[in-house]
Amino acid sequence: MEFRIGQGYDVHALAEGLPMWLGGVQIPSQTGFVAHSDGDVAIHALCDALLGALALGDIGHLFPDTDDRWKGVDSKKLLAAVLDLPALRGWTVVNADITIALQAPKLAPHIDSMRGTLAAVMGISPARVSVKATTTERLGFVGRREGCEVWAIVLIERK
Ligand code: MG
Repeated sequence: MEFRIGQGYDVHALAEGLPMWLGGVQIPSQTGFVAHSDGDVAIHALCDALLGALALGDIGHLFPDTDDRWKGVDSKKLLAAVLDLPALRGWTVVNADITIALQAPKLAPHIDSMRGTLAAVMGISPARVSVKATTTERLGFVGRREGCEVWAIVLIERK
């Protein structure tokens, strides 16, 4: 049995009046993420973790923000496209663990929805997908509500 582990990290800036997509679900919020895609920073970190597990580069390389095909794209489609890469088709996700640092709004009511949504895209049980949220106690750019940062770790297993 062969296993690989990968980690991913992403940051997006917040701005007034944009939709907030996080972990594949829309979060009611006065602010949303500035991005070429829908700005789902959690999915972007997860994609980079999957790519990192097999040393396949990063999503900025796969889906360049200069390419209009990815303008406003639902990041769930990016995650599905990563999992459908020839190099990843022979692998299955054992588990994923995602940590979101965001000052506001509170994400607790949306955690289970994110877990279920991400698990469905990855074709695994929500029990294998952890989503955790934290504030940064008002410190740094996250604490000043200027942005959001996300760390993701995945373990994959060759089918
Ligand atoms: Mg991103």
